[in-house]
Amino acid sequence: MVTKATLKAVDGVSFDLARGEVLGLVGESGCGKSTTARLTLGQLPPSAGEVIFEGKTVPSSRTQQWRNLRRHMQMIYQDPLGALDRRLPIIEQIAEPYTIHGIGGSRAERREKAQALMLQVGLRPDQASSYPHELSGGQRQRVVIARALALEPRLLVCDEPVSALDVSIQAQVLNLLDDLRRKTGFSALFISHDLKVVRQMADRVAVMYLGRIVEEGPPEDVFHAPLHPYTQALVSAAPSIHGNRGRNRIVLSGDPPNPVNVPGGCPFHPRCPVAVVRCRTDVPSLSREGDRAVSCHLAGSAGGGGFSPAPHPKSKALEAV
Ligand code: SF4
Repeated sequence: MVTKATLKAVDGVSFDLARGEVLGLVGESGCGKSTTARLTLGQLPPSAGEVIFEGKTVPSSRTQQWRNLRRHMQMIYQDPLGALDRRLPIIEQIAEPYTIHGIGGSRAERREKAQALMLQVGLRPDQASSYPHELSGGQRQRVVIARALALEPRLLVCDEPVSALDVSIQAQVLNLLDDLRRKTGFSALFISHDLKVVRQMADRVAVMYLGRIVEEGPPEDVFHAPLHPYTQALVSAAPSIHGNRGRNRIVLSGDPPNPVNVPGGCPFHPRCPVAVVRCRTDVPSLSREGDRAVSCHLAGSAGGGGFSPAPHPKSKALEAV
């Protein structure tokens, strides 16, 4: 007999996003960030729980109700070439949302609106009839952003929007997104494995491990004083985040476990350098104090507000555990 295994790509993930706020989602590849994005947009039906957008449950199926809601929630993908139609001039692609949703008047009027969007994202008018392959990676991502902005979305889900671009172009696209957000006021779920990028873009950051949020808080606090051992390891591996503060690099052993077979107790315990016996059996809950949250038995309340971080693997505090 073959027993079917259940894969929980995300489990118990819960977050709020205020109007105009950017929530950064970080973690290793396969930790559930992209699944969270697809659930948020209603592209995947949750097996439990719901996604509420402006007071309404996001329907999971492609109903008219979903389409009505979906126009206010747009996505920017990692690969702009894959997100565009190679056979269509970019002006047609930017104007496409107007056609699909029956807005914008005549074809000429829709093209005029699309041209205004091109200028807004820094594309030249003479590029209107270009095809995606005739543009650079950064220009293609500008086309994708223009198309996403056509319907004046109130939520933008950005899934690794600059990771396929050259470093010099990344900064330009990030500045553009930040500028547009300030001007138009959309909220954003910003997914990236790059902590530096998230620190630049996000008002709040959530760290995911194996489908769960393990730490949350303002980026400056999370990256400068990480509470969870997994966040500590991520930060220690990104020297640009903590500069020359002398933090010791924490090297995690092994790869993340198969999400079909999540370890009991704390899911991080097989790789956690400071795990204690109870970590193998007791699942830590996500505790909140002020604007920080953490899911770890050793990152306890410091009293008087705030948490004390889990001990660093090389710290004296660990010897007392
Ligand atoms: Fe490590 Fe235990 Fe904290 Fe999990 S609960 S992160 S295993 S110390």
